[in-house]
Amino acid sequence: MSLMPIVLAPDRRLKLTCKPVEKVDDDVRTLMENMLETMYDAPGIGLAAPQVGVLERFFVMDVAGKEAAPEPRVLINPRVTWSSDEMNVHEEGCLSIPGVYEDITRPARVRMQFKDLDGKDHEEEFEDIAATCAQHELDHLNGTLFPDYLSGIKRRMITAKMKKLKKERAREG
Ligand SMILES: [Zn+2]
Repeated sequence: MSLMPIVLAPDRRLKLTCKPVEKVDDDVRTLMENMLETMYDAPGIGLAAPQVGVLERFFVMDVAGKEAAPEPRVLINPRVTWSSDEMNVHEEGCLSIPGVYEDITRPARVRMQFKDLDGKDHEEEFEDIAATCAQHELDHLNGTLFPDYLSGIKRRMITAKMKKLKKERAREG
């Protein structure tokens, strides 16, 4: 396993619609193992393929929390089949937008269909932080980042902050 560099916003790759995974093979499995390792190392609770520069529809997540045993999850070609009318507000962050946290409103519960690492189909309902995380990661596969839910002023402030951060990091090498 190896750590992968995380793509930072603003970056065109984070604004594109990803392609479905045609076949769940060893390449995909290795990539997802590396993504999980990268996510734990960051640390974060979710990481989508475009965040490591792969424009395909899958993401990894683990919302078990620091104190609990790890519960790595892998969702391939996920799609929402149902979402609750009830909404929930969670403070969200993103490994592609380090240091920025904002309250985002999303459906409190969602059901998603997806494939696992063996290519098997699943349907599962997520709630609370898992629902927020799964929707945040699925958004990445459609080129949507959490600041897209905020006002134009806030979005522009975040973009300016990120451009500055990227410049600093580039200078540090
Ligand atoms: Zn994110």
